[in-house]
Amino acid sequence: MTSSDRSGAAVADTRLWHPFSDMSAVRRGEFVLTRGEGIWVYDDQGRRYLDGTASLWYANVGHGRKEIAAAVQEQMGKLEAYSAFGDFTTEPAQALAARIAGLAPVADARVFFTTGGGEALDSAAKIARRYWSAKGHPERVHLIGRTGGYHGTNGYGTSIGGIEANRAGFGPLMSQVSSVQWDSLTALEQEILAVGPQKVAAVFAEPVIGAGGVLPPPEGYLEGVQAICEEHGILFVADEVICAFGRLGHWFGSERFGLAPDMITFAKGVTSGYLPLGGVVASGRVAEPFWDEAGNMLRHGATYSAHATCCVAGSANLDLLAQDDVVSRALELESVLLDALKPLAEQSIVHEVRGGVGLLAAVEFTPEALAAGAPGKVFERARERGVIVRALGQGVAVSPPLTIERDEIAFLATAIGEAIEEVGQTSVNAPAT
Ligand code: PMP
Repeated sequence: MTSSDRSGAAVADTRLWHPFSDMSAVRRGEFVLTRGEGIWVYDDQGRRYLDGTASLWYANVGHGRKEIAAAVQEQMGKLEAYSAFGDFTTEPAQALAARIAGLAPVADARVFFTTGGGEALDSAAKIARRYWSAKGHPERVHLIGRTGGYHGTNGYGTSIGGIEANRAGFGPLMSQVSSVQWDSLTALEQEILAVGPQKVAAVFAEPVIGAGGVLPPPEGYLEGVQAICEEHGILFVADEVICAFGRLGHWFGSERFGLAPDMITFAKGVTSGYLPLGGVVASGRVAEPFWDEAGNMLRHGATYSAHATCCVAGSANLDLLAQDDVVSRALELESVLLDALKPLAEQSIVHEVRGGVGLLAAVEFTPEALAAGAPGKVFERARERGVIVRALGQGVAVSPPLTIERDEIAFLATAIGEAIEEVGQTSVNAPAT
């Protein structure tokens, strides 16, 4: 099968269906990466790009780290994987679970592994409902998320997510799920009272909303969510798929806000993406009916839960995060990144620059610029300048590897600034013809 490229020339149609992508455009030309080293990735023409997004917010230790490759190779040669159903396990799975349980700000923690973030969210949602059923409250099924929240694309995660476009066209999703204004404790309280506190199983919140636009929480908000949940006995789930493993300058984003959630979902930074892995850290309270009551098993889990080689990649990655002091560096660099991007707020198409809580930030465009497709255009102009940013609904986001240096942050900000200036001068402000 052939298609035509932008000039009308015939090109072979790709067989790869890209996730979250407009295939009618992608089929006219894919962007092929062949190599990565630290914060840089290289395309098939040999050009290099500063990975300003750490791929999809995950390459925390940067690309091409030989230590992780070596650990993975060794495990592959020994025992690539074995199921963890029943009493089976492997040493890498035991070791990583113990290490994460020790790092997480979750009381008496247990770790349930998945293959990624979306599966972690669905696991947490099902664990929450099953927990209440086991505790004799099967009526407690309602799940509350927030506007702008992103919780993956599985059934529960899609339903709890608050980015409207991601739910459209899929027909009825999970029932007994609702969404409240992302920054309002009053809205949360009102929703809990409207549903009935005794019917709410869990509230889900990203410490800093990522895909929904990089939205750090208002002062005291997350602490307030936790207090409201406590008051009504509701489980509080922190979705830390982006925020954990250094992104917010701590091992877990919850630590930054003094939170002790009932569950934390994680993925991405746990392996820095070297192999797919995610999971749920559950508190002793949540685990108790399953650990203490004979026969009360959680009938949930996947073939690759606690995959040995993925767990080895996780441990090797955590070694790198610990030994290079990457986590505390991220805390130091968050203001450097925000300060470098702040001047962009002066540009005509920019509405706001956000960030400062962890090594992630966003530049939001004006409504007119958004209507003219500024995020996609800035993404393209930046890539031409050797910098990869992420186009989101309201603007562009950056979340570089945590190993980035100060001068590289300056280079990143300069390229984004030039890209925005160019887009502002040309397409966006051009008179309509
Ligand atoms: N939760 C959050 C907060 C995320 O950012 C993501 C992914 N961007 C997910 C869940 C889903 O993770 P995955 O893509 O690994 O399924």
